[in-house]
Amino acid sequence: MARTTPLENYRNIGIAAHIDAGKTTTTERILYYTGKSHKIGEVHDGAATMDFMEQEQERGITITSAATTCFWKDHRINIIDTPGHVDFTIEVERSMRVLDGAVAVFDAVAGVEPQSETVWRQADKYHVPRICFVNKMDRMGANFQRCVDMMIDRLGTRPMIITWPIGAEADFKGIIDIVSMKALVWHEEQLGAKYDVIDIPAEYADKAAQLHSELVEMAVELDDAAMEAYLEGTEPSIDALKSMIRKGTFAFKFVPVMCGSAFKNKGVQPLLDAVVDFLPSPLDIPAVKGVVPHKETEVERAADDKAPFSGLAFKIMDDPFVGSITFVRVYSGSVTSGSSVLNSVKDKNERVGRMLLMHANSREDVKEANAGDIVAFAGLKLTTTGETLCDPNNPVILERMEFPDPVIEIAIEPKTKADQEKMGMALQRLAQEDPSFRVSSDTESGQTILKGMGELHLEIKVDILKRTYKVDANVGAPQVAYRETLTKPITIDYTHKKQTGGSGQFARVKIEFEPLEAGSGFVFENDVVGGTVPKEYIPSVE
Ligand code: GDP
Repeated sequence: MARTTPLENYRNIGIAAHIDAGKTTTTERILYYTGKSHKIGEVHDGAATMDFMEQEQERGITITSAATTCFWKDHRINIIDTPGHVDFTIEVERSMRVLDGAVAVFDAVAGVEPQSETVWRQADKYHVPRICFVNKMDRMGANFQRCVDMMIDRLGTRPMIITWPIGAEADFKGIIDIVSMKALVWHEEQLGAKYDVIDIPAEYADKAAQLHSELVEMAVELDDAAMEAYLEGTEPSIDALKSMIRKGTFAFKFVPVMCGSAFKNKGVQPLLDAVVDFLPSPLDIPAVKGVVPHKETEVERAADDKAPFSGLAFKIMDDPFVGSITFVRVYSGSVTSGSSVLNSVKDKNERVGRMLLMHANSREDVKEANAGDIVAFAGLKLTTTGETLCDPNNPVILERMEFPDPVIEIAIEPKTKADQEKMGMALQRLAQEDPSFRVSSDTESGQTILKGMGELHLEIKVDILKRTYKVDANVGAPQVAYRETLTKPITIDYTHKKQTGGSGQFARVKIEFEPLEAGSGFVFENDVVGGTVPKEYIPSVE
C-alpha cells in the first residue's frame, strides 16, 4: 500500500501541559472536530478514549502516552499524548523525543505553572517547535495578556500573539485572527462547531492593528526581501506571512500564542489550522542521527520512504482489544506487516505481526508504515521502549533515551502468598513498559522492592497491579532512594548491620560507591544494602 498522505502533510504533535490546564479537553475537542469521535464527552468511555484507564479518570491525570491519528484539511495529524504530572517526566521526555512539534496548553487564570515550565524545558531539550494555546478564557479571572507576560518572564520565550480574545470570562465570545485581521465568533449552540468570520469589532480595531504591526515586524525579520518591502510600505500577503511565521517557529525565533476555551468549544478549529500552518512536518526536522552497531560510526536517516527502515519504540501498552502493543515512530524507510526487522539494541530479529493506526474510536490495520508514521506494532516479543527497530541489512541504533535513577522506593508483598508468582510476572512486565520503574528483590529479607520517580508513580503501579493484574498487595512506607553516580568507583568491604525481623543481624557486604558524606543514606540497585554509611568507611575525597 502506497503512502496515502504526502509526508509534507504529516504533523506529529504532542499536547503538553500542566495538569488541569485542559489538555484532555483540548484533545477531545480536536478529535471531535476532526470527526473521529462521535460526541463531545464520549471520548471517556471504553476504547473511545485516550485516557481509558479508570484510575486516570478518578485522578484526572493522564498517565499513558498513546498516539492517535486524525485528519484535518488533508493533513494527517498524529497526536502523541504526553503525561502532565511531574512524576512522569520520563514519559514526557520519551514522547518529546518522537514528536516534531507541540501545542503547549496553559490555563488562562493560572498562567505559567511550575509544571508548564518543566514541560517547556523538556521541549527545549529536544528542540521541539511549539505553539501556545491559552485555554479556559471563559473562566473567572482569565487574563490572556498576563499569561503572555508570564511566558516572557518565566519561560524566557518570545511570544508572537496570533489571536486575541474577544471578551473574557463569561463574556468570552471568540477571537481575532491577528494574521488575517478577521474576527471569529462562535455560535453558542451546536457545541461550537460553527463560527462566523466577521470584521473586527470597532472597539478592538486599535488593539488588533497594533498587534498586527508587531506580528508583521517580527515575521519580516526572517526574510530580508520582505523586510525591505515592508519598510517601503508593502505588507506581506497572508500566505507569505504564514510561511514566515512557520519559518520563525521552526527556528525558535518566537512562539505563536493563541487563546480559546476548549470546554466552551471556542478556538479549537483555529488551533488545528495553526498546527497545520506553523508546526513542522517530518521533512522540516533534521534527519535523525544514529550509530552503526559494533562500528560506532555515526549515520543519519532522513525521512525518506526509499531509505532503509528505522524506527524507535517509545511506548508499550495494553490495548483492550489487541493486547500488548508497541508504539513506534518510523524515521526512515518502510516496514510491512509480516516482515522481520532487527532490534539493533538487543541484536535480535523481531517479526512484525499486525500494525495498527490508532484512531479515537477505532483501530485500523495497516499493511505498511512509512517514514514519518507513528504506528502500533502488535505482538513484538522482546522490544522495550527506547530501542531501535531497523532493516536487518542496514543496522542502526538511534539515540537511546536516558533515564534518570529512581528516587523513591517501597517494599511490596502480595496480600495472599499464592499471588507471589503472579505479582512477580506482572511487575516484570510493568518494568519492561516503563524504564523509570525498577523492581528488585532484597535477598536478605526476601522482600520485593519497587523503585520509581515519585510516590504517585509507585502508587499508580500498585494500582495497576490490582486493577489489571488482580494482585492485591501491601506496601511499606516510601523511602528515599539515593542516587549513586560512580564517578570514581571504590570498593569497600565492611560489615553492615541490618535489622531483620527484630533480631540484629550482621551481613558482610562488598560495595562500590563514590565518595559520600558520613551519615548519608544509600541504597543499591541490585544489592541488599540499605542504610547509613559508617564514618570509618568514608574515603577522603582527593
Ligand atoms: P488536563 O489535566 O490538562 O488533561 O485537563 P482536563 O482537560 O482534564 O481539564 C481539567 C478541568 O478543567 C476539567 O474539569 C475541565 O472540564 C476543565 N476545563 C478544561 N478546559 C476548560 C475551559 O476551556 N474552560 C473551563 N472553564 N474549564 C475547562
